[in-house]
Amino acid sequence: MTDLTCKLLIIGAGPGGYVCAIRAGQLGLDTIIVDEAAPGGTCLNVGCIPSKALIHAAEEFHRITAVNDGPLGIQASAPQIDLAQTVAWKDGIVNRLNTGVSGLMKKAGARFVQGRARFLDGKTVVVSDDDGEREIRAEHIVIASGSAPVELPFLPFGGDILSSTEALALTEVPDSLAVVGGGYIGLELGTAFAKLGSKVTVVEAADRILPSYDKALTAPVAKRLAALDVTVMTGAKAQGFAEGVLQTDQGEVAADKVLVTVGRRPRTAGVGVEELALTLDGPFIKIDKTCQTSMRGIYAIGDVTGEPMLAHRAMAQGEMVAEHIAGHAVEWDKRAIPAVCFTDPEIATCGALPGEIEGTKSSEFPFMANGRAMTCEREDGFIRVVWRESDHAIVGIQAVGAQMSELSAAFSLAIEMGACLEDIAATIHAHPTQSEGLQEACLRALGHALHI
Ligand code: FAD
Ligand code: NAD
Repeated sequence: MTDLTCKLLIIGAGPGGYVCAIRAGQLGLDTIIVDEAAPGGTCLNVGCIPSKALIHAAEEFHRITAVNDGPLGIQASAPQIDLAQTVAWKDGIVNRLNTGVSGLMKKAGARFVQGRARFLDGKTVVVSDDDGEREIRAEHIVIASGSAPVELPFLPFGGDILSSTEALALTEVPDSLAVVGGGYIGLELGTAFAKLGSKVTVVEAADRILPSYDKALTAPVAKRLAALDVTVMTGAKAQGFAEGVLQTDQGEVAADKVLVTVGRRPRTAGVGVEELALTLDGPFIKIDKTCQTSMRGIYAIGDVTGEPMLAHRAMAQGEMVAEHIAGHAVEWDKRAIPAVCFTDPEIATCGALPGEIEGTKSSEFPFMANGRAMTCEREDGFIRVVWRESDHAIVGIQAVGAQMSELSAAFSLAIEMGACLEDIAATIHAHPTQSEGLQEACLRALGHALHI
């Protein structure tokens, strides 16, 4: 195969890599992007999009199942689900998005090369596929190789022991599912399978689920899990699995399938990062404000650079690096990165939690006092603002409640634009919406809440 040269070579076409390629192409940089799999990375193929599709299907199914017991006066007959058809629908969405990403990169003028990339030296990468090998030489190289699920030695993936990738491809709902790790993925998928009818048990090592958030934020999620008959074991360690039984230090859990979601590790080994001797930060690649690694001309973006491992962070880094390489005076100056956990209810956060920054206070507004939440039968949860006492600047916003993902844009916008309590308190929020809770939390902080 013919060797190639370019100005910018990107390894990995996930959200970080493909956005970098599109922006670089727009800026006129001669760009090649390599991926061994379909464009879109973890997020599009086996992560964000497939999981949200399954969560949606599970919610629709559960809503019909649960309506008979509700106060609305609606009676429905028991629904059936053909999970194979659901998965085929999800795969159709993934295919459409694969094609869309390919088209966007092509339109921007970036060349996509399929194959596995490995560094030969700081300016050269070897790409191999079934047809052989080719070398690609570039002035700048961006490592966007992402992450892979962490495997526990006593629960190796395979058979009935699943990573999120296999769980998202199941064609039958397991009667029982043990989820090892009650973080983002474990709770998003665990909740979905509980709604589809599995008996779900979550085995979490920390003293509570979603330990990176405070207890108040996770309490409504824990309550809902209990209502869905999900058993949550905390401070618990899984030890092994045999013949339908998961052993833990707190006893045995019967499980047809075991989903292991104990975090993700950077994909550095296959890329040849070790051989380049780049400086690492723990297992991740260390980067500076422009995503430069310790070797001149080599950048790293996205999950391979560590937490928060979120698609929109990877995308923002990809865009910035392309602009930096094109000569723009840019650096990472984001005030906060929003995060949404698509549990039930959803948790949306941006910026500092209460107590994280000295000289800050917090105030919250419960959805129990919000008309829209009542009309949607979703009075669980609250919105909370964290602000600086000295100038009332908002440094953090968190919410737990139904559909909070869509409200998260208001949170990041407020913090990015340096809003203070008075700005949001004086902004008219449409009625009746749950967004009024944000305005009320600010009014409450100022001592004159109107609806509580
Ligand atoms: P990736 O998306 O991992 O892409 C890396 C790409 O590099 C892959 O396509 C891979 O094939 C390629 N690659 C790796 N090594 C090589 C090599 N040697 N040669 C060629 N190609 C290579 N984040 C959110 O923000 N919101 C969510 O709702 C969300 N849900 C998630 C749900 C699940 C189940 C999972 C697993 C993750 C979820 N995430 C979510 C996290 C999100 O998927 C990642 O943060 C995001 O994909 C990281 O993007 P990236 O570009 O850094 O890497
Ligand atoms: P996570 O870090 O969110 O959760 C892992 C959980 O496993 C933690 O609660 C941890 O205490 C627990 N744990 C670790 N070792 C354990 C053990 N041996 N036994 C029992 N519990 C154990 O990791 P994840 O859920 O695998 O997700 C990985 C990353 O993917 C996240 O950090 C997140 O950045 C990203 N993600 C984001 C979203 C989203 O934005 N909605 C969704 C899914 C994944």
